[in-house]
Amino acid sequence: MNQRYTPEGLTRWIQELVAADNIHGFYICKPWIHLRALVLKEQHYECQDCKAKGLYTPAATVHHEKTVRKFPWLALTKSNLTALCDECHYARHHKTESKWNDEKW
Ligand SMILES: [Zn+2]
Ligand SMILES: [Zn+2]
Repeated sequence: MNQRYTPEGLTRWIQELVAADNIHGFYICKPWIHLRALVLKEQHYECQDCKAKGLYTPAATVHHEKTVRKFPWLALTKSNLTALCDECHYARHHKTESKWNDEKW
């Protein structure tokens, strides 16, 4: 379990999930659930993209700036995470990449 916390262990584990077509496994792991809750709290449960536009919208999800698949070693790095509302999250994924179904939360 502990090796998941090292960048190498985390990368290996996520690569295994991707190979097994089970990236969902990442989103139900305890370290992610804890970190996600922490990021939401620290970003005041506010969508950061809406905030940048002067709007207040409750955040519904935590987005990986660098994707879990391509940058697995950053999957549990707080600076890689942004609280977003569903709409902004959808927009982010459609602007930057086509595969968004991987990451629903
Ligand atoms: Zn938003
Ligand atoms: Zn995302």
